[in-house]
Amino acid sequence: MSEFTKTLCPYCGVGCGLEVSPPAQPNKATNRDSKGNPIWRVRGDKAHPSSQGMVCVKGATIAESLDKNRLHYPMIRDSLDQEFRQVSWDEAFDLITQRIQTVRFTQGPEALCMYGSGQFQTEDYYTAQKLFKGCLGTNNFDANSRLCMSSAVAGYIQSFGSDGPPCCYEDLELTDCAFLIGTNTAECHPIVFNRLEKYHRKNRKVKMIVVDPRRTPTAEAADLHLAIRPGTDIDLLNGIAHLLMRWGYIDTLFIDDCTSNFPAYAEVIRHYSPEVVARQCDISIEDLETAARYWGESQRVLSLWSMGVNQSSEGTAKVRTIINLHLMTAQIGKPGAGPFSLTGQPNAMGGRETGGLAHLLPGYRVVKNPQHRAEVEDFWGLKRGQISPNPGLTAWDMITGLETGDVGLLWIAATNPAVSMPDLERTKKALLRSPFTIYQDAYYPTETAAYAHVLLPAAQWGEKTGVMTNSERMVTLCQAFRQPPREAKADWEIFAEVGRRLGFTKEFAFANSAEVYAEFVQLTGDRPCDMTGINHEQLQYQGPIQWPHKEGSKRDTKRLYTDLRFHTSDGRARFGAYYSKGLAEPPDPNYPFVLTNGRLYGHWHTQTRTGRIEKIRSMHPEPFIEIHPRDAATLGIIDKQLVEVRSRRGKANFPAKVTKAIAPGTVFVPMHWGALWAKDAEANALTHPESCPDSLQPELKACAVQLIPV
Ligand code: SF4
Repeated sequence: MSEFTKTLCPYCGVGCGLEVSPPAQPNKATNRDSKGNPIWRVRGDKAHPSSQGMVCVKGATIAESLDKNRLHYPMIRDSLDQEFRQVSWDEAFDLITQRIQTVRFTQGPEALCMYGSGQFQTEDYYTAQKLFKGCLGTNNFDANSRLCMSSAVAGYIQSFGSDGPPCCYEDLELTDCAFLIGTNTAECHPIVFNRLEKYHRKNRKVKMIVVDPRRTPTAEAADLHLAIRPGTDIDLLNGIAHLLMRWGYIDTLFIDDCTSNFPAYAEVIRHYSPEVVARQCDISIEDLETAARYWGESQRVLSLWSMGVNQSSEGTAKVRTIINLHLMTAQIGKPGAGPFSLTGQPNAMGGRETGGLAHLLPGYRVVKNPQHRAEVEDFWGLKRGQISPNPGLTAWDMITGLETGDVGLLWIAATNPAVSMPDLERTKKALLRSPFTIYQDAYYPTETAAYAHVLLPAAQWGEKTGVMTNSERMVTLCQAFRQPPREAKADWEIFAEVGRRLGFTKEFAFANSAEVYAEFVQLTGDRPCDMTGINHEQLQYQGPIQWPHKEGSKRDTKRLYTDLRFHTSDGRARFGAYYSKGLAEPPDPNYPFVLTNGRLYGHWHTQTRTGRIEKIRSMHPEPFIEIHPRDAATLGIIDKQLVEVRSRRGKANFPAKVTKAIAPGTVFVPMHWGALWAKDAEANALTHPESCPDSLQPELKACAVQLIPV
């Protein structure tokens, strides 16, 4: 038997396969870290179909974080000004169940909230849905995917009748034209980019277009970089559509047979002439025409996007406008073509499958649909009407619910909102008002732990066996390869125990995570994400499987919609007709710059893991602000000088990086630094919570700021 255990990288949604083994001679000093913990060996899994043995620096160094800054015991305190005291699990569970019951019977179930995470395995997500949406009768479960992918979810549902990225990674190596918008793939999804870039380099006829206000490493590799003004994505996309239509590149047969609402869309794009669009986006007409020509002349066009599109007050409209281009040119349902969202968290996809957002139910069902509610109630053995017909509180609603006193208990798990939420000062003030906050995490300290009344130690990656789904719908079993430290428990076990102590013994009688998964997949039967043919054992012996994978299936389903039938009531994909609205907070004379933010190659989100890995810390030692030389000269800012950045909500300080990589009028800061890591360099001290009306995803990507040299 191999000494290596197969698992998955727990960082980004690329979902690279890993193999992990204990140190060859664990007692040898060189095989132990400074605290005496064994150093595990990690390598890429060559047999994993998504990554083929490749890993980036995050995956390669992940084992170094296993024993650093772990939370080992349940801890409680009566108020936030007290020290935590260690308690037994029994005492912690008693306190939690008693507080849940009190809130439930005094304020009602709608005062209970859980804010979860794309770091959850599918079993964790599913158990939490059953506890909150089923047993407790509130849909107040939302996850950090709300800040990440909810616009993609809403866009897919509105255009195709269902969520679910239609493409697969193989398409990266089959396309004629890759259109990357709002994604710095080279740094944020490195192994996807490796595959695309290698193919692009070898095939000179293949075109790569990158749309980004920054000249990122991704843009450096492109044939055409469109550095559009922030907030003008829809102008650009409608402008490309205008030219495709004018030049006769549209597929009228496909439009007639497979889509609806094209006339309304055609009426909108009529207004986006090249002259208007070039002016609006601040690009040349020639570049716009080149982009349209690359798209129109290609047999197979693949578009990729990420947070630059989703984190917007018109995020759903942007996603649908990307999809429109695919629909008008029939670039979907075939190899090398289609709209493809790149997921942020490693199992945000599993979250969507299990109903892990406040408006969803398991199996790609929605809370508002009475039939969907009834199906889940019957399956869970609940009385009809037990699942609330109202979508629950979203991530930001939970913050405003704390402000108004409507939230009586907040349970946060595997995420760090005291760094990642918009408008951080307001967020922190709201967290301080929480009557009772449970914080469940593998790590301590984190910025959010400071706002908790109860800390629950969670087993992390490698310490529990469960399933994750990556961006291409590839389901992988992440096998445990070591015991959780001290008293840490798997998230699903914690949720199940609370459920049993609340009296739902039958509902949570799971002996192990394989049983949880086996129950969950039954709820996907005959749904778009049918996984009834997948179980833990099969994943262990057969390897990763792509859904849909119905019971009895022999093959993976690489692409969706190959039959050109969609999940809408009439089977047609719907065009969305949108005029551009621009930024929710455009620059003005008082706040003349647009601040955008993003991630760096080595770091992951709020640095809970990567901040403790020496190699990554030395790659990215400190935060910075990118400023164009022209703006720097106007303000008298020189390289490395400290700059105070102010928005209407807060301020932060960053050393200047004067560079032509950023467009004039726009500045960029990385989002990884919270209060634990740098003084006053929190990107989200500046951002605002204005959200997309459909996806309720906040516009974290842009706000108006002023710059003051210090
Ligand atoms: Fe992990 Fe993403 Fe890097 Fe792959 S690309 S090794 S999933 S961080």
